[in-house]
Amino acid sequence: MTKFETSAIHSGWNGTAAGGAASVPVYRASSYQYDRAAKMADVFAGKSAGYIYTRIANPTTTVLEARLSHLEDGIGCIVTASGMAAIASVAMGLLRAGDQIIASSGIFAGTVSLFAHTLDRFGIKTVFVNADSPEEFAENVTDRTGLIFIETIGNPQMNIPDVERISQVARQANIPLVVDNTAATPALFRPGQFGADVVVHSTTKFINGHGTAIGGAIIDTGNYSWAKGNFADIARRCGKAGALAFLSHLRNQIYRDLGGCASPGDSFAMLQGLETLAMRMDRHCSNAAKLAAYLVERKGIDRVTYPGLSHNQFYRRAERYFGGRGGGVLTFNAGSRDKAFGIIDGLQTAKNLANLGTPQTAVIHPASTLFADFPAAQRRQLGIDEGMIRVSAGLENIDDIINDFELAIKSIM
Ligand SMILES: *Cc1c(COP(=O)(O)O)cnc(C)c1O
Repeated sequence: MTKFETSAIHSGWNGTAAGGAASVPVYRASSYQYDRAAKMADVFAGKSAGYIYTRIANPTTTVLEARLSHLEDGIGCIVTASGMAAIASVAMGLLRAGDQIIASSGIFAGTVSLFAHTLDRFGIKTVFVNADSPEEFAENVTDRTGLIFIETIGNPQMNIPDVERISQVARQANIPLVVDNTAATPALFRPGQFGADVVVHSTTKFINGHGTAIGGAIIDTGNYSWAKGNFADIARRCGKAGALAFLSHLRNQIYRDLGGCASPGDSFAMLQGLETLAMRMDRHCSNAAKLAAYLVERKGIDRVTYPGLSHNQFYRRAERYFGGRGGGVLTFNAGSRDKAFGIIDGLQTAKNLANLGTPQTAVIHPASTLFADFPAAQRRQLGIDEGMIRVSAGLENIDDIINDFELAIKSIM
């Protein structure tokens, strides 16, 4: 097996199709034709492989699925229209009315809204627990718990949960552990190696890497035994689909019915992003580390939160999980909303936008944007105060990034 950087460029495509095209073509086709009615009937019956309709599968997207599965050490992957579509498909695929989710608090605000509000309307309840307490996960397991959900780096608190211990809790209760690995990407961390059963991604962020497409992915790591799980409809598929029963259940029912498929053009953008993911992550991480070090020393700025800083409470775990890197995102406190707005308005190179993992350094004021709908008490509990700014370190020269922050901070002092 080739190393990560090589697989990110070559896996899933060898150019023997499509006239030898060296990069993956965009198959802009909604549907696929058959010269014999009997052949099409066999594909519909699952007796032979083939494409039918792009809402179910598409040749460009298939290459992306193979590549992402390979890079996450998975057994298979389904690519979706967005990260939210991936998380919604997994939840809808595993749960029914009356079931419960255990999720860490301090996860992506859109996921909180999906769990706490949208799924609640369908009778699915979520209990949010402290990401740093595997005991709290264990204490909240009931006979209706259908999935445990965590993120590898929380957002915007930057907490890194103990994936191994939480996976032991899940294993003991025979519940799948779903890990959102958007912030780390497989270039830094493969949750399956630490016990995760299903990995989800917003490929919109670092995987696309250029802010040019929205996408998501679901990878089955092969760690969970669906044949022995508590999901009768998935277990029933094990006879035909074997270890791929969960993905087959999604592909042939949930994902197909919800309609959250990726556009082939967006799959192409994700494939292009993957080719440079490892190099870009190195630069995102080193720029974030240098910016964090500067902000720690800067008078007037406090609570610089970055797992790559040696005094951060998650430093050791970042070292162990991410090979000594701290990710591409950090937060700091400017002291008040006015000062935070002043810094954001004063930045010239860094852009004020709601995304992560773009080539441009990106800043946002979480309290008035991503978490604006949250009650003030909940924001406080999540550590999101009025002076907080979140930064996604871009790929620019670090001297220019630091200079940009220095001038913006100086302008409000
Ligand atoms: C952005 C994000 C999502 C949602 O993904 P979309 O592609 O925006 O739908 C989910 N989880 C995390 C950690 C994210 O950063």
